[in-house]
Amino acid sequence: MILPGHVAAAVLVSRRFGLDLRVAVLAGLVPDLVDKFVFYILHASRWTRVPAHSLLALVVSALGVALAGRQRHGDWRWGLSWLGGYSAHLLCDIMPGEGALPWLWPFYSYDDYVSPGIPWFLGGGPVPWLTLVTEALLVAIALIVETRRKRRLHAR
Ligand SMILES: [Zn+2]
Repeated sequence: MILPGHVAAAVLVSRRFGLDLRVAVLAGLVPDLVDKFVFYILHASRWTRVPAHSLLALVVSALGVALAGRQRHGDWRWGLSWLGGYSAHLLCDIMPGEGALPWLWPFYSYDDYVSPGIPWFLGGGPVPWLTLVTEALLVAIALIVETRRKRRLHAR
């Protein structure tokens, strides 16, 4: 999944569970921001899903954000919001067609997984139609949820 779907998923998770929207959306973007940077800019990995698409990255980053939120606001809500947004990102990325994630990295080698040098939308692979349709649906649902929410807030 790409940016619009990840933002939509984080918005939906945030609204459903009463999380901090900004933290959840940021967490929903971080796995791709980190791993695309490591792959395309630093050339330090062979796959666009290492290291931030792993369970270790999810847990460590959520703990770090939870501690920061606890220190700053006196509660753990940032950590839960981060966990929600980050988890939504990972769940969106296991769609059939895109599939695998390095859940056990660095405890398991994912050397067989190699990404093309350019992303699919620049000709680096087949167009993931199922993912794109799902992504469009997620964005549409998020827009409907947000529109209804704004109407309810204005009606008060
Ligand atoms: Zn991703």
